[in-house]
Amino acid sequence: MQDRSESDSRRLLQRLRDTLAEPGQGQERLDRIVGLIAESMNTDVCSIYLFRDRETMELCATRGLKAEAVHRTRLRLGEGLVGRVARTATAVNTADAPSERGFRYMPETGEEIYSSFLGVPIQRLGEKLGVLVVQSNEARAFSEDEVYALDVVAMVLAEMTELGAFTSEDTTIARPHKHPVMLRGGSGQEGTTEGNVWLHEPRVVVTNLVNDDPVAESERLRVGVERLRVSVNDLMQAAATGDKEHADILEAYRMFANSRGWLRRMEQSIENGLSAEAAVEKEQSDARARLQQVPDPYLRDRLHDLDDLSNRLLRILTGQGRDTGATMPDRPILVARNIGPGELLEYGKLLKGVVLEEGSVGSHAAVVARALAIPLVVHCDGVTTEALNGDTIIVDGDEGVVHLRPDESVASAYRDKIIMQTQAAARFAALRDLPAQATCGSLVGLHMNAGIMADLPSLSGSGAEGVGLFRTELQFLLRNSMPRRSDLAALYARVLKAADGKRVVFRTLDIGSDKVMPYMNRPEEPNPAMGWRAVRVGLDKKGVMRMQLQALIRASAGRPLTVMFPLVAEMSEFVQARELLLREIEREAHLGHLLPEKLEVGAMLETPSLAFAPDAFFKMADFISIGGNDLKQFFYAADRENELVRRRYDTLSTSFITFIQKIVQRCAENGTALSFCGEDAGRPVEALTLIGAGVRSLSMRPASIGPVKDLIRRADCSVVSSIIEEAKARGEERLRPLINDYVRSLSSL
Ligand code: PEP
Ligand code: MG
Repeated sequence: MQDRSESDSRRLLQRLRDTLAEPGQGQERLDRIVGLIAESMNTDVCSIYLFRDRETMELCATRGLKAEAVHRTRLRLGEGLVGRVARTATAVNTADAPSERGFRYMPETGEEIYSSFLGVPIQRLGEKLGVLVVQSNEARAFSEDEVYALDVVAMVLAEMTELGAFTSEDTTIARPHKHPVMLRGGSGQEGTTEGNVWLHEPRVVVTNLVNDDPVAESERLRVGVERLRVSVNDLMQAAATGDKEHADILEAYRMFANSRGWLRRMEQSIENGLSAEAAVEKEQSDARARLQQVPDPYLRDRLHDLDDLSNRLLRILTGQGRDTGATMPDRPILVARNIGPGELLEYGKLLKGVVLEEGSVGSHAAVVARALAIPLVVHCDGVTTEALNGDTIIVDGDEGVVHLRPDESVASAYRDKIIMQTQAAARFAALRDLPAQATCGSLVGLHMNAGIMADLPSLSGSGAEGVGLFRTELQFLLRNSMPRRSDLAALYARVLKAADGKRVVFRTLDIGSDKVMPYMNRPEEPNPAMGWRAVRVGLDKKGVMRMQLQALIRASAGRPLTVMFPLVAEMSEFVQARELLLREIEREAHLGHLLPEKLEVGAMLETPSLAFAPDAFFKMADFISIGGNDLKQFFYAADRENELVRRRYDTLSTSFITFIQKIVQRCAENGTALSFCGEDAGRPVEALTLIGAGVRSLSMRPASIGPVKDLIRRADCSVVSSIIEEAKARGEERLRPLINDYVRSLSSL
């Protein structure tokens, strides 16, 4: 067979378009297409395999193989050469198929042993839809142009599949994005909710795929790219100040927008018959396919940048703005690849849930989602390609699971769960003004964690006694530049005013590790969680810490002030940080400012070392708060951000609880007030065990106060203490089953 020229590919595409325009059911269309491709490419066989589910493909149309095999022959991902094309999302082109790795002879299709095989993936924006194959008796490799032509045809097929062009009533070819899908991710914030998908970045719909006039189409692309360059330059100028990370991204955009390779490839696609939009989308699809193969985070980021840039160009070419005219559903569940904390805050309480394809448990967006108490699933692979605006969606933040377009049985099971949660919430609300007093008479102080102004109304709503942890870093993370002292002072004053006399424990800036301020230079650290973070940064960069302390003193203006330093690892760090604060108070006094009426200075115990600090430390600290999230990660040497190890070790083990008892004992000996403010404080069974270990003050998410109080009021702490002691005496490691048994034995109120 002679080499194909570009005009052959154009002609093939045009015939394809005409074929698609003819009336007919999906199956008829597919049959015509395989005939057309086999004739145009002069091959003995042309077949289309489409995915039935994520793992299995089905032969949906063929010219050359047995007609009876259609809708019968199935292949798993990775099985045979067709499966290899699908798995790797790259073409397989061979003159000697039987000796190719992975070759599988399928007698059921009546296939002779064809020598030549060319298979290309049918994929749309990273979503695998199937495989398009041509085969020949003649032993020859297909030319580059032929591979390209088939690739372009596959792309058009992918678009048509997406638009439902092959949907048939008589066969089982269903339109994609119609089936229920369950996706697994990680839990970012607990809670279950049902609603409708609201895509943060709605898809651009491309309907004209084939061009009639390559010259005019190339010109359209050129004008579009020029507009794109101008808009990226404008963005760069607007971002010229501050935000280094943002500027880096834009620089990458600019690089791509000016990349000749990118433009040349798109122009070639137009030469070969695609419209300008389809050419952009082809590049985007290829980039996404590469993305799935690239483990390097830097390269992945760059491919994401290219993806974003392609979206911008598509919007320019199609005239579709971000606003696609879709109206936000009543119960919007935000679906996005990722989202910044500022953007998430803008949506605010409007959202019922959030699902992120990337994101992480400790990301800023997750911190905001937690503050807003919206169920959040992170690391949810494939959700942005699967979900369409308006789809029904259930977000199970407890399990980190998402159900898209759930069938009725799944939906009703979840509805029952949601109803039970609502009933429980009503029961907890009734406890709001009652004390957290166990049946043995012990009283437990329940406080809430906060981080933004929007949290403060929960103080009265939840029945919390005060704010046991106010994370101050969010104000720093949400901005493009360092906040001013006056802004911070105004915010802290608003927090104190809203707290209306209840105690607020302000934790000084805890940055570093996963919390990175975009405007501050940060050294590359091999192990950021154990690196230059929290009070270590504060003591080394005293300017920022002093500014924050001054803001806190000014905000308190005659009211009591409580300050806590994060990640104190040894006594001397606490001494220095405390002295810095006392010096600032002196300075403020000199300046004639009103001083705090009362001052409490505490430390977070987040590293095991501090539990062994000299008695003098315990005596000097007005209070200690155990930061269980960090303490646990350092106790077990298991990164709290690492999905592989994050759940590996249990809080309810005799080793960890013995360690907590040790801290309780040291605080008791030295008369130091103690509380616990990690996530475990908000989990009822964990909270009860901590109480059994002697902790009498807990700080947690406001939504957890009801469930924790409910359990405390039904339990006897002395029984929990005995369970712990007996397990220790028996040399057992696991406490959880024992405490669970005890909790189950308690009657509900
Ligand atoms: C902790 O480590 O338990 C804690 C409360 O601090 P953060 O989660 O902000 O590190
Ligand atoms: Mg911490």
